[in-house]
Amino acid sequence: MSGFNDQISKDDLIRLRRELHRHPELALQEFQTAEMIERELDLAGIPHSRVGATGVLGVIFGEQSGNGVIALRADIDALPIQETNAVDYRSQTDGVMHACGHDAHTASLLGAAKLLSANRAHFGGEIRLIFQPAEETGKGAADFLEAGVLDGVERIFGLHSAPDLPLGTIGVTPGLNNAAVDQFRILVHGKAAHVSTPQQGTDALYAASHIVVAIQGLVTRRTSPVEPVILGVGKLHAGTTYNAVAEDAELEGTTRTISQEMRLQVRDWIDQTAQNVAALSGAKAQVFWTDVTSALINDPQASLEVGKVAAGLGPNIHIVTDRPLSLGGDNFAEFLRKVPGCYAYLGTSNPLRPETQNSLHNGSFDLDEDALVLGARLYAAYAKWWLTGGKQQ
Ligand SMILES: [Zn+2]
Ligand SMILES: [Zn+2]
Repeated sequence: MSGFNDQISKDDLIRLRRELHRHPELALQEFQTAEMIERELDLAGIPHSRVGATGVLGVIFGEQSGNGVIALRADIDALPIQETNAVDYRSQTDGVMHACGHDAHTASLLGAAKLLSANRAHFGGEIRLIFQPAEETGKGAADFLEAGVLDGVERIFGLHSAPDLPLGTIGVTPGLNNAAVDQFRILVHGKAAHVSTPQQGTDALYAASHIVVAIQGLVTRRTSPVEPVILGVGKLHAGTTYNAVAEDAELEGTTRTISQEMRLQVRDWIDQTAQNVAALSGAKAQVFWTDVTSALINDPQASLEVGKVAAGLGPNIHIVTDRPLSLGGDNFAEFLRKVPGCYAYLGTSNPLRPETQNSLHNGSFDLDEDALVLGARLYAAYAKWWLTGGKQQ
């Protein structure tokens, strides 16, 4: 549309990203981060409100006629990871780091918001800006859904940094992108005794060890080898001293599945396995489940739209539509269950800067800040496209 100015300040994006990077905050503690987002939205004249304690919703109304509604989402939380990079914008909070690129997503969406707000005379309809806390713990999306933020929304779009993709590449895969994630905790209860008289006790440690092994057997013997399933136990605590039969044991683990049927099926299997295996040694097991996030499934039509818009951003943009499935999860999945949309993966690595090739959730992760401009442009371009006729196509 004529008159739409799509200049974005790279310096401003870098300033924002570095400010966020210096002051990372863990899930549901993003108070300073939310204030910073609100300050930037105020500067751009964008009205906003809090959603939950630390979520921020900004709204931009276009001034032309038209009634489309599109939501753009960035996640804002950091991780309990110690940064090992020696850059001058390194985390100033010990043990907390933006190691998943959420600082970049937030900066990019703020950049897009400023651009879209400055151009609101050139489109109609409404843009909802979702700054979502607690992506890493899978708890942030629910507050926005319960507050009705997606009511009336026709498309939702988000993006995530991808060190596996080089700068200038955008991954837009239709369908399944990320696994469903759940967390389980198993408490095994036995009876304490002196190690010399095991017959007087019930060994919770012994039962828990068998449960760990039996759970792995579910994957090799009960699930189809062509459908990925992970049942991982990451923590096992039992006993109090070397010469006593352990009274209690506690296991914690996670499941990764790619269909709702298998997600529910493995819960049943783990419940039964824990109880039955514990019973073999006279112990009792209780299993507690926490839903973390659903499988992330991109709408095929929205994925085509985003791919087309992304390819139009320049001659050197490379679109990939077959980025491999990740068994990591992303809380954006909950939004996609409500509204057709697309989660894109933004290439952030540069072979000339090896630190940008380190994986996410690593204390030495960094990204090439040239990606910020492309991220911001993509957010803005898809919203603009939807609200200036894309919706009718
Ligand atoms: Zn992460
Ligand atoms: Zn992330």
